[in-house]
Amino acid sequence: MISLSVPVLGEHEEALVLEVLRSGRLVRGPMIDGFESAVRRTTGARHAIAVNNGTSALIASLLAHGVGPGDEVITSPLTFVATLNAILFVGARARFADIGDDFNIDPRRVEELMGPRTRALLPVHLYGCPAPMEQLSAIAEEYEVTVVEDAAQALGAAVAGRPVGGAATACFSFYATKNITTGEGGIVTTNDDAVADELRVLRDQGQRGPYDYARPGFNFRMTELEAALGVAQMGRLPSLLAARRDHASLLSALLAGIDGLVLPREPDGRCHVFHQYTVRVTADARLDRDALCATLQARGIDCRIYYPAPVFEHECFRTDRRVSRDDVPNARRAADEVLSLPIHPLLDDAALHHVARCVREALC
Ligand SMILES: *Cc1c(COP(=O)(O)O)cnc(C)c1O
Repeated sequence: MISLSVPVLGEHEEALVLEVLRSGRLVRGPMIDGFESAVRRTTGARHAIAVNNGTSALIASLLAHGVGPGDEVITSPLTFVATLNAILFVGARARFADIGDDFNIDPRRVEELMGPRTRALLPVHLYGCPAPMEQLSAIAEEYEVTVVEDAAQALGAAVAGRPVGGAATACFSFYATKNITTGEGGIVTTNDDAVADELRVLRDQGQRGPYDYARPGFNFRMTELEAALGVAQMGRLPSLLAARRDHASLLSALLAGIDGLVLPREPDGRCHVFHQYTVRVTADARLDRDALCATLQARGIDCRIYYPAPVFEHECFRTDRRVSRDDVPNARRAADEVLSLPIHPLLDDAALHHVARCVREALC
């Protein structure tokens, strides 16, 4: 079986985790500091605040920016449920801007949704392809709203040479399937000192010092064991991303010219980190998307659908008045056509040729 994602773990991870175990210091220690500073260096952000997962990162970021009941947050309809859950958890209302060819929110659609209650834009850098941040930041500035980026899939990506996470507040995830992992884990980057302070307080029971509670908070802390993995994984990040990008180029070369198969593109000026290599299977293809997926699965190739429907279509959100049912025809079409193929860093060329051959045999 060729898996869709496999964590890359080795001697450095083992050594650092052992170091934590032998030190007896399992929380609030040097690994957290080391991990946070590594993420600051990679993103160029002034602050990095490690938390226990990406969903906590989103919740804490929205709260730190004062987003709450009565506010509207504009996000993507084609995303993981955590994005919507975070908006609802802080009591805000979710609006959905339709996506463009890059699977990210389209700035023109965002502008149409801007209104008196809009408090924040929450773009999702889907599959590791950064959203058009230049246009989105310009809109946010013009309408004076906050930007919180869901960068869970996009550590190391960049727009116009600027790393994702170096500008607005950005949320990353280190869940086991992400490009680098701490098992469970997350981090928020920001350049805003006050927001960073609020995030550190929220992460730690709302506490500023011993028994000095500034507000009701959470336990969103990351452990030293997780941070030790993070330190080792940050060391691997450049080579892991290079492998993903190479694998994406090879697959695209091998899959070119098949009717009804649209290959992923890296938009001009943006660096895509290929958390997923996602193709579209259109009506012109010999098989529909679900049939292609079943054929590949039967041949031992793990492939998956991210995501099968606009996030607001799931049953539990249908009657929630804080979940707007916006018109998103492009996201609906994408949900019917997308399929992610394996490209993780441990695959060799033979495996990638096998994946491409199986797709070609199914569609040609
Ligand atoms: C993984 C992911 C999250 C949530 O991260 P967790 O660490 O699993 O809580 C949020 N948004 C997107 C787009 C993701 O892919």
